[in-house]
Amino acid sequence: MIIEQPARWLRWLYPHALWRVNPNEHSVYLTFDDGPIPEATPFILDVLDQYDAKATFFMVGDNVRKYPELFEEVKRRGHLVGNHTYHHLGSFKHFTLTYAVDVTKADALIHSRFFRPPHGWLRHSVYWWVKQNYRVVMWDVVTRDYSKYLTGEDVLNNVKRYTRNGSIITFHDSLKSIDKLRYALPKALEWLKNEGYEFKVFTEKD
Ligand SMILES: [Zn+2]
Repeated sequence: MIIEQPARWLRWLYPHALWRVNPNEHSVYLTFDDGPIPEATPFILDVLDQYDAKATFFMVGDNVRKYPELFEEVKRRGHLVGNHTYHHLGSFKHFTLTYAVDVTKADALIHSRFFRPPHGWLRHSVYWWVKQNYRVVMWDVVTRDYSKYLTGEDVLNNVKRYTRNGSIITFHDSLKSIDKLRYALPKALEWLKNEGYEFKVFTEKD
């Protein structure tokens, strides 16, 4: 499926971005976008702790401003943080300079070399700017936990169906997804663990 597992042509649009880590390693990279928010992030942190799993949170700068204690809590529990712009900008509507200012503003709070563009799209001029300054991280599996047409069970099935070695799996700590994640996340982690996957976060060499 084109949405859950991005096609090759899409990956070629952003050749320097990270879509999947080492396919020879039995590991997955859990990522959570759009937080931190009190309605979702603490639940996710507790589930991750239960499975001794570390993850990467691509945060919206404005949420970090609103909930600085949650931002600190995510880091304190050993997770990695990444930049997801300050205002969750879609890049087609904005000039490169506007976008760059927004990313830089988020960086002043988040301080990370990892960046994920909202909606997974970047205008080419923006992409060239971003990749000079950040490691762009896309994904190998989209769980579609944000979709109102999917249930928690569907989200879990997406994880089971599309995960493979080195997969970067995308979830959201958002209001749209949290009801589904309450069901799907513990079960997904249980399944991944039983399948022998190791949970990893990105490093300097990724
Ligand atoms: Zn997002």
